[in-house]
Amino acid sequence: MAEDKIPTRAEDFSEWYNQLVLKAELADYSPVRGCMVVRPYGWALWENITSWLDREFKETGHVNASFPTLIPMSFFEKEKEHVEGFSPELAIVTHGGGEKLEEPLVVRPTSETIIGYMYSKWVKSWRDLPILIVQWGSVLRWELRTKLFLRTAEFYWHEGHTAHATREEALEEMHRILDIYEKFARTEAALPVIKGRKTDAEKFAGAQITTSIEAMMQDKRALQSGTSHYFGTNFARAFNIQYLDKNNALQFCETTSWAISSRIIGAIIMAHGDDQGLILPPRLAPFQVVIVPIYKSDAEKSKVMAVADKVFTELKAAGIRLKMDDREEVTPGFKYNDWEMRGVPLRIEVGPKDVEKGSVALARRDIPGRDGKSFAPQTNLAASVTGLLSEIQASLLKRATDFRDSHIFDPGTYDELKEVVQNGWAFSWWCGSRDCEAKVKEDTKATTRNIPFEQPGGTGKCIVCGEKAEQKVYFARAY
Ligand SMILES: [Zn+2]
Repeated sequence: MAEDKIPTRAEDFSEWYNQLVLKAELADYSPVRGCMVVRPYGWALWENITSWLDREFKETGHVNASFPTLIPMSFFEKEKEHVEGFSPELAIVTHGGGEKLEEPLVVRPTSETIIGYMYSKWVKSWRDLPILIVQWGSVLRWELRTKLFLRTAEFYWHEGHTAHATREEALEEMHRILDIYEKFARTEAALPVIKGRKTDAEKFAGAQITTSIEAMMQDKRALQSGTSHYFGTNFARAFNIQYLDKNNALQFCETTSWAISSRIIGAIIMAHGDDQGLILPPRLAPFQVVIVPIYKSDAEKSKVMAVADKVFTELKAAGIRLKMDDREEVTPGFKYNDWEMRGVPLRIEVGPKDVEKGSVALARRDIPGRDGKSFAPQTNLAASVTGLLSEIQASLLKRATDFRDSHIFDPGTYDELKEVVQNGWAFSWWCGSRDCEAKVKEDTKATTRNIPFEQPGGTGKCIVCGEKAEQKVYFARAY
């Protein structure tokens, strides 16, 4: 078992993460550098994430569609900031069918351009608006330093692309989506996040406004977990997305785009995991419960399995996602470690004594050892398990919230800021100047995360230059 041990978070947080992803069988390295293979257990987790979001998008009027992977190179050159932002990361196809292409094609790093082009063909009048389309798929960005889920060349996501008649509607859409992201993070992923606006230096290439949700990992670094952008008419002008308004005057559309990517899996790992491995929030876990039968003889086995099977059937009928680990070739102790590594929220043990007593043993993944153990009667077990899963979900959110709040500081001086961002976030007044923002980055590697919508009110003095400041911003080292 020794070689199966992963480093503790305190020893080496980065290596703890890398080994956990492999050992929990979430993902693996591919032969193409920087790309990842998402294994079935990781994909099952991703499916639970995507199905929640998909349902939410559809309930708010969005529809799904699919656009091509390859985009003409010239499309990227139509929006100046967009091409500047993305050209270092582009993978370009120059040959097809053994011949050099007349125009190189870009493997999509994001799809604003091709979708903008199509919208210009589809939108004619105000009656055609709004367009609310979501595409699910993968994109490719030539990343140099990669890490499974957090930063890979190819990654999975949805990208929403919407076109509206007015600025107000487009801004409303941007906020509607950010609210959905915040709700997803809080209720499903048990991640407390901060909603706010990115500074100009940190916004998406081509956006007028970028908003984000930001989460704190256990190494106190920030992880941008979702973004929602307002483009104004930037892309509409570049791609000629125009409509005739009610007075028959030609107008440019206002557009948005937004995304949560497979990066969110990295956030879930780093916010909740412990030294034994992954801890998955019950609402997203591929298996919410694992049943481990315990017996020594054939006689015990038949009694134990009869109860274990009955428990399995009952819980499954109650809609609980679960797994029966009836492997013969490994010990119960091995199974405990195995499912702890994979973060299954609740383990049910059924042994000969439990059979006699008419009960089962329950072990919570979020509270290791004796403290997390309890016994429940076999009758009405589905209700006890469902209740316990909700309790685990709530306790993960509370733990992550307490952790985050105890690592957000309000430094009194710039020197103090330099110190606190080494082990937390600073929430500080900022005058809005790019120079002050750049100085913090240069001195500490901490960047502005976002300007939260929730502000204390009033004014203060910029933590860097001392000038008057009208907003507070989060500074943190980030993934
Ligand atoms: Zn300043």
